[in-house]
Formats: sequence, structure tokens, C-alpha cells
Amino acid sequence: MRSNPHKLHVVFFPFMAHGHMIPTLDLAKLFSSRGAKSTILTTPLNSKILQKPIDAFKNQNPDLEIDLEIFDFPCVQLGLPEGWENVDFFTSNTNNDGGYMIFKFFKATRFFKEQLEKLLETTRPDCLIADMFFPWATEAAEKFHVPRFVFHGTGYFSLCAGYCIRVHQPQNKVASSSEPFVIPDLPGDIFLTREQIVIVDKENEIGKFRIEVRQSEMESSGVIVNSFYELEPAYADFCKRFVAKRAWHIGPLSVINRGLQEKTERGKKASIDEVECLKWLDSKKPESVIYISFGSVASFKNEQLIEIAAGLEASGTNFIWVVKKNEGDKEEWLPEGMEERTKGKGMIIRGWAPQMLILDHQATGGFVIHCGWNSLLEGVAAGLPMVTWPVGAEQFYNEKLVTQVHKTGVSVGATKHVEVKEDFISREKVEKAVREVLVGEEAEERRRRAKKLAEMAKAAVEEGGSSFNDLNSFIEEFSS
Ligand code: UDP
Repeated sequence: MRSNPHKLHVVFFPFMAHGHMIPTLDLAKLFSSRGAKSTILTTPLNSKILQKPIDAFKNQNPDLEIDLEIFDFPCVQLGLPEGWENVDFFTSNTNNDGGYMIFKFFKATRFFKEQLEKLLETTRPDCLIADMFFPWATEAAEKFHVPRFVFHGTGYFSLCAGYCIRVHQPQNKVASSSEPFVIPDLPGDIFLTREQIVIVDKENEIGKFRIEVRQSEMESSGVIVNSFYELEPAYADFCKRFVAKRAWHIGPLSVINRGLQEKTERGKKASIDEVECLKWLDSKKPESVIYISFGSVASFKNEQLIEIAAGLEASGTNFIWVVKKNEGDKEEWLPEGMEERTKGKGMIIRGWAPQMLILDHQATGGFVIHCGWNSLLEGVAAGLPMVTWPVGAEQFYNEKLVTQVHKTGVSVGATKHVEVKEDFISREKVEKAVREVLVGEEAEERRRRAKKLAEMAKAAVEEGGSSFNDLNSFIEEFSS
């Protein structure tokens, strides 16, 4: 990179959900490790999650600049329960009318606009990288001639697939909601069904919000993508040509966390002692453990959890299973005696797992994944074959990248997006998919392909790699 007398100042504004805050913190660390000054905006409660890893980063890198700026978010005044400053509160409180309240939460974030304008006016940063769910941020930045970039936290493939479906509406040309259609114009013959996607209803509030999000994106200066070129070259090109005004790929972001402490501290505090977890993994043969996690939001009813438990037990494999449960929950989801029967073979983590530590351990041989983009890229960077089990959001698109494009995973057979209808996967399907991804000739092939992708991921962020270079060109352009 050319030496530049001006130090780039980037303001980051993540949506308050773990799947958005975690990669944004990585992004801010990445920018500051490349000489920029990073400022992350968040609320008082969320600052407690971010402060510790920021302090740790600063301790290790005293010359680098990264800071937090705290904005007010008066929940009660905004019609939300006191202190509910993160999506976590809405998804873990099952007695609540989750959907309605979450939407209220999304809308309430508009309260930040005035504070953001004040900050932009007084600090005059070089650019603002704000979450896709903050559509009002484009207008706020425009007022002060600060370029606003959108961070979706997803990859090129899903951005392109969503675009092609919006333009061509192929779901209207099939006879039934379960009949597959090819996504028109999208490179590769990618199949989906109507019940795997969300159709925007322009008449309702959520639909209107989605349209506003897209509009603000079109008016923004471009998008920052947590991906690397070699993972999705055809889709990166397609996105840059047709979908986004401009796009830069700078991932995988998770690899900025290299040390044990950084990997452990990433995100929420793990519900298990990492030393215990590592000791357990150390006692297992290489590539013999399957890791099952559905991210920070998705949750299942007891009936489904029982099937997962039974499928895992029947597969006879070593496993680490993360179950997102609240303290005090009755454990009716756990088949009687299962924990004793699988002692030594299985580990159940109730709550939050140190995911990066587990994925990067040599004993881990496969990942049952909900296809959240962060987890997916973390799995790719760790070179793991996957059992894909999409639930909602853009996860059904992401699944296709794994199963149809790279063929590094097998689908468990999920057919319905959670916003369309609740799905149910039997224990037999769980058992079959887990076995299929761990053993056999095809499993070896899949693993070989997954390892190759991991090598490409590593090369992309190293000096001269595709992500390294894209970040360079971004920094050079917006520093001047
Ligand atoms: N994560 C974690 N431990 C957990 C669950 C999730 O560290 O027990 C992290 C995971 O590594 C990823 C993020 O939380 O970085 C989840 O983001 P993703 O996009 O995969 O899914 P989402 O939570 O947004 O559905």
C-alpha cells in the first residue's frame, strides 16, 4: 500500500444482533490493523459485549486505533421493554410475541438518526459503514457528504440470488409452493422452491421496511462484502455488474482472530469453560467430531430438538451440540438418559459456544449448520464439510452455495423457510446426513474440496490476496 499522510477514519454502525455485531467488530479490527482509525457505534448494553474484545485488541496492538461511541437507546420511551437493546432479548423470551416485537425493535433504531447526524457533523469521518437494517443512515451521511456503505453480513451469492428473484419472480410461474424452479439469470442452474424464500408483501409494514432497505442501498456508495473472490467468483462479478452500485470483498473476516484469547472472547461469553472444551476435543481423533449449532437466533421446539438428539445418538459419532436454551428452562427436549449414554462421546453446550475454537480444532470433522453467513464462512475457513439445515433469513440461498456450487455439504432436507411454515426434520434424516458427511468415499471428496476452499480463504487475506487487495483499493480511494 502507498504511504498516505491522511489516516482514514471509518465509522461502523452494526445492527444490535450477535450475527451483525461480531463481523462488524472483526471488520473494524481489520481496518485499524491496516492503519485506519475505527469508531464503532452502539448502545450502552451492547457496548459491554464489545468493550472487552476491543480492550484486548488494543492491549495487543497499542499503536492501533479502535474505539466505541455510545448512543442512547431509551427502550421504554421507544415502546420496548427496559434494557432490550439486542435481538437476543426478543428471541430468547419465548413468552413474547417475537415477530411483532422484533419488528418494533427494527423500527425503533431510527431513533439513532439524530445522534448519528450530530456525530458525523462533529467528527467528519471519511466514511460510514452502516448495517443494512439502518436505511435512514444513507440520508444522514449524505447531509454531511460522508460516503455511506452498506454491510449486509452476507455473501455475493445470496445478494445475487435475491436480486434475480426480485426481478424475475420465478416463484409465480410454478404450480405449487414445493415445485422447484431455476433462478433466472443467476450463473449456475440453482434450484429453489417458493416455500424456501420470503416474498415481499409491499402492502404490509415489514414489506415496506424491506423496500426502504433496498432503496437506501441503491442510494448508498456501495456495499462491503464479507467474502473472498475465489469462493464465489461468478457471483462477485455478477453482483458488481448488476446488483450493487459498487462492491468490495474483504473476508473472511473471522480470520482476524488468530489467538486463543481472541477466538474465545469473540461474541458473547461462552457458556462453557474453553479449557474444558479444548481438553475434550484434544482427547478425540482428528476429524471425528461433528459440531452442531444454529447460530444466535434460530431456535427449535422441543419436538425438533428431540429428533436432533435421537439422530445424533443413533449416528454413533462424537458430537458437540449447542442448544440455545435459557437458564431455568425445563429440559424436556433431552431424551431421558441420553447424556449418560453418550458420555465421553457427546458434549451438549447449553447457551453459547466458543465456535471458532471448536471449528478450528483438528478433532472437528464436520459442521451441522443453519447456513447463517458468518458460521458458513467460519466453516469454510476451517475447511469443514457441512450438513446444511437452513431455517430462515437468506439461509436457503447460502445452502445452495455449499450443496450445489461447491458440493462441500449435504442437505439435511429442510424445505420450508420459517416465515412461510415451520419445518420438521426426522431423526432418520439427521442420522443419515451426519453419517454421510463424516464417512465414505464421497465424504472424503467433499472434505478434500472443503480443504481447498480453506486454503483459498487463507490466501485471500494474505498480502497480495484478493481480499487484501480489495481492501487496499478501498482504503486508498477513500483516504484521498
Ligand atoms: N456464535 C458463537 N457461538 C454460538 C453461536 C454463534 O460464537 O454458540 C457466533 C458464530 O461464530 C457466528 C455468529 O455467532 O459468528 C452467528 O452468526 P451467523 O451469521 O452464523 O448466524 P445468525 O446468528 O446471524 O443466525
